[in-house]
Amino acid sequence: MKIGFIGLGIMGKPMSKNLLKAGHELLVCDVNRAAVEELIAAGAKSAATPREIAQQVELVITMLPNSPEVKQVVLGHNGLIEGARPGAIIADMSSIAPLASREVAAKLAEKGVEMLDAPVSGGQPKAIDGTLSVMVGGKQEIFDRCLPVFKAMAASVVRVGEIGAGNVAKLANQVVVALNIAAVSEALVLAAKAGVEPELVYQAIRGGLAGSTVMDAKAPLMLDRKFNPGFRINLHIKDLANAMETGHQFGAPLPLTAAVMEIMQVLKIDDMGDADHGALVRYFEKQAKIELKRGPART
Ligand code: NAD
Repeated sequence: MKIGFIGLGIMGKPMSKNLLKAGHELLVCDVNRAAVEELIAAGAKSAATPREIAQQVELVITMLPNSPEVKQVVLGHNGLIEGARPGAIIADMSSIAPLASREVAAKLAEKGVEMLDAPVSGGQPKAIDGTLSVMVGGKQEIFDRCLPVFKAMAASVVRVGEIGAGNVAKLANQVVVALNIAAVSEALVLAAKAGVEPELVYQAIRGGLAGSTVMDAKAPLMLDRKFNPGFRINLHIKDLANAMETGHQFGAPLPLTAAVMEIMQVLKIDDMGDADHGALVRYFEKQAKIELKRGPART
């Protein structure tokens, strides 16, 4: 199938490469020329604008930072809406505000263009392996048509409801991940400060009720001081802001999310906005005046 792909960043690049590997023809576009060149070297073709892409394909995938970029690429000048034919599909795999997905979909529907919101979870390693989890909102019939394409990038693809529902699921995911990283950070810093080797505490608790995918992904990186992204704190702040906005709109209080959001803001002010979200541990370390490391704890 000939597919358009816009947004070749940390996630979009490996996802689009997996589509090429699965035998799809790709037409790509990004404001970052180096990323476009890399995809051309891997076998894709490029187009100058989203509009040009939409003129040539029936399905366009977008993988952009947030709602403003998605609105720009889909609805803006030279955007997808200007080139898309009735019946075409836009699958936005970015994590954006659910109400923004609905707004964009409503504008596309006026031109007979279909939309799915299909954000992902799993981060860069699973984007590379093609084992992401995709949570999809939109019509069942459109979901069924896109499923084989999603499967080339993912191990799990679940339709959770109508348009916007995918991003509601993603916000729930981001709340769980943020709070979990904060809990792992607070607990391991407590262990180190109390003079117990944090790596052994991690080994002791990971198989019990406290264990989690987040703990297994992030605790080793914290112990090895690896904070290169991965998933940037700035992007997680964006997701938590979207979660809180959605919570306020629908009347769901998010007090724990608000607390972790403020910790992330402190790290952003401390120039760690582009670090991996595992760098949340740096906040707890600073308060306790200790750094995690492998080996015996030293206070
Ligand atoms: P990124 O910043 O690495 O990539 C975004 C890409 O979009 C960049 O290549 C940028 O040049 C391009 N872009 C921005 N504006 C554009 C425009 N107007 N036209 C064309 N290209 C444009 O971000 P990422 O980490 O790949 O994340 C993308 C989305 O996926 C975000 O919504 C993020 O929250 C979500 N996500 C990220 C991860 C992760 O671990 N990085 C995991 C799950 C979901």
